[in-house]
Parts: sequence; structure tokens; C-alpha cells
Amino acid sequence: MNSIVATRKHMNANETVHHYFDRAADVLELEESTRRLLKMAKREITVEVPVEMDDGRIETLVGYRVQHNNARGPMKGGLRYHPEVDLDEVRALASLMTWKTAVVNIPYGGAKGGICVTPRDLSRKENERITRKFVDQIHDIIGPDKDIPAPDMGTNAETMAWIRNQWEKYHGFNPACITGKPVEDYGAKGREEATGRGVGILAFKMLKRLGRRPKDTRVVIQGFGNVGSHAAKFMHESEFSIVGISDVSGGYYDPAGLDIPAALHYMIENRSLKGFAQAERITNEQLLELDCELLVPAALGSVITLDNVERIQAKYIVEGANGPVDADADERLFDRGIAVLPDILANAGGVTVSYFEWVQNRQYYSWDLNRVRQQLDSILSTAFEDVWQLANEHNVSLRTAAFMIAIQRVKRSTELGGF
Ligand code: GLU
Repeated sequence: MNSIVATRKHMNANETVHHYFDRAADVLELEESTRRLLKMAKREITVEVPVEMDDGRIETLVGYRVQHNNARGPMKGGLRYHPEVDLDEVRALASLMTWKTAVVNIPYGGAKGGICVTPRDLSRKENERITRKFVDQIHDIIGPDKDIPAPDMGTNAETMAWIRNQWEKYHGFNPACITGKPVEDYGAKGREEATGRGVGILAFKMLKRLGRRPKDTRVVIQGFGNVGSHAAKFMHESEFSIVGISDVSGGYYDPAGLDIPAALHYMIENRSLKGFAQAERITNEQLLELDCELLVPAALGSVITLDNVERIQAKYIVEGANGPVDADADERLFDRGIAVLPDILANAGGVTVSYFEWVQNRQYYSWDLNRVRQQLDSILSTAFEDVWQLANEHNVSLRTAAFMIAIQRVKRSTELGGF
């Protein structure tokens, strides 16, 4: 590889999203003032989260909520607990939520929040105290008609239950103030599986369009958390051959196809794939470069970069994670003819079922799982067809087409609302 390119500084997360935005805005011939208006976040909040640890020490953490855009409805997006959370990342993820909700055409804007912390190092009680303290700091700016948080990396249904309980202390009963709640406590059936299931549904649709059968498609999935494991389950049931999976403990490979039910069972028992013996052990880096047809990065951001893009062997990529491909690597993938189904569509199943949860909460009515799955399939199908068609019409990547659709919708709502 050319040494100048290899040593070039990678774009940060927000620059990457801006790059994708601008590429679509160029095709749409959007003027500079509109670009600036649509790119900038409406509000960014950084708060101190002081918390008493179990041993009596006081730790002071930093929490963020970035509210990017509300032209199409209340702002919506997850809450991430991770040691790499910073304002730049939350800003990027908040804007991705604006484009994500627009591309699947649900009546929301975009937001994202996070706390810079390692959840693994916390006791359950410490985690609860941190969560409640964070809600104390931001309760006034979130709510069912303003900004509705949800789970993301490092948070889950239990975290959402604490948030709801703390928020309701200030504002009274209203379960629609948060989504991704426990099913027995105003959560939606099918919410937990929704992001991974959506990844599987969309991979299936994309391959069908390309004339490829699941049976003949070898799949590698990076990440076996909520997104990766549910994607693996759905894809295994749809007869894809899953040859590689991974988590923080490393990669697991079997060219003949992994026993996914056994891996899922192992994960439930051990809360990690560490020690899963029915596969060859490889590193997470090697996993991304495996010989396969379909690669699903469903863990962290920025895992496909200029450093490894030339070694990617997959023909198709479906982005389960948010921002797994760096902008300059994305250009190379396009040049190499590798089709990338972008995060703002590929992992939109989660926020789509969050929307169903919010609707059910507001109606005090609960849907059965079949209805949730059917409606999810219908929304994702429509969005996929819109994106596929536009990409072909303009001869642009699926990512650029998805951004074009999203930008036009947000722009239109902004204009209809007036200034
Ligand atoms: N955190 C998820 C995402 O990035 C879900 C957000 C939501 O349900 O509001 O899309």
C-alpha cells in the first residue's frame, strides 16, 4: 500500500458522517447553507455524573446527550455506556439517527447519548446509581414528545426500566418516555431481537436482488452481542452458512459452517464465546478478512479502514454496527465493487420496533409478536426497495442513495415547518 495513504490520519466519526452526507448532498445539488443547517446538531449537552461507588469512593463521570434534529418528530436514539464514548462520537451517532429514522420513514428525528464508563467494571447497583444520576441531569430535555432514549452498547432493558422510573419521579407516569423496556413492563415483544433480525431480513433481501441463495452464501459476523447474535440466529434459520463469529474474546471459524444454536447456547451459559471449542480460534482482525461472501460487522465503529480494506474478501457487507466502515475505506469498497448496505438502513430494525413500542405505550395496547415482525418486515422492505431503486437510478452506492432519501425527507419537513 502507498505509504502516504497508509500513514494518513483517519477521519473522526463525525467527519465520516459529514463525508457521507456531502457525497449525497452533491448528487442532490444542495446549497451550502442547507448543508450547514442539516448537519449541525440542534443541542449538545455534556453533564457531570458524580456517583458513589460501592466502596464509598466518589467517581465523577461524564455524560452526553446530543439532539441532532427534530424536523420530522421527537428525537430518538440510544444511550451508550462505553469507555470510548466522547462528544465527537455521540455527535456522529446522533446525526446517524436522524438519517436512520428518515430512511425508514418513521416520525422521529435523531439523538444519541452516552456515558464514558466501562460497564463490566461496575456492580449492578453502581450501574443503577449512575443511570439515575444521569437522568437527574437530563430529565428536562427528554420525554415522549421531545427525545426518547433507548438501549445501545452497554445498556439494556433493565437500564431502560431504571431510566423510566427515575424520569417518572419528575414527570409522572408515562412509559413512552423511553423504549427498549422489559417486555413485562411496557416493553414491546420483539424489540430485543429487532436490530439483529432486521440485519438478517435486509441481508436476505439484498442477496435475493443480487440473485444469490442463502444456502450458497458464507457469512462472517463480527460481534455476538445483541445485534450479532440475533442476526446469526435469523440468518442460520434462513439457511445461510455462518462460517465465522466473534466477540471480545476473539474469532471462531469453521469453513464448513458453525453450529449457531450451540454457539447461542454457549453464549447464554457463559456470557462470552471464550472457550467455545467447536471452531478454529482466530483473531478479530483475521475474522474480517476471511474468505466469505457476506461480512456483517456488528460490533464497534471503524473496523474497516484503509489499513485492512484491501484484504477484505467479502463481496457484500451489511453494517450491523453504527459506523463500522471509515469513509476512505468506503470509497475503496465501492471501487472494488463490494456492495455495502449502510448502517442507517441495515440496523434500523431496532429503532423501528422502538417506534412500535412507543405507539403501543401511547395507545395502552399491546401487539403480539407476529404483528411486530410483520410490520418490521414491511417497513424495512419499503425502505430497502426505495434505496435500491435510487442507487440504480443514479448509479451511486447504497449508502449515498440512503442518505439522499433521508436528506430529502428531513429537508422537506424543515421547509414545511418554516423558519
Ligand atoms: N441504539 C439503536 C440504534 O442505534 C436503537 C435506537 C432506538 O431504538 O431509539 O439504532
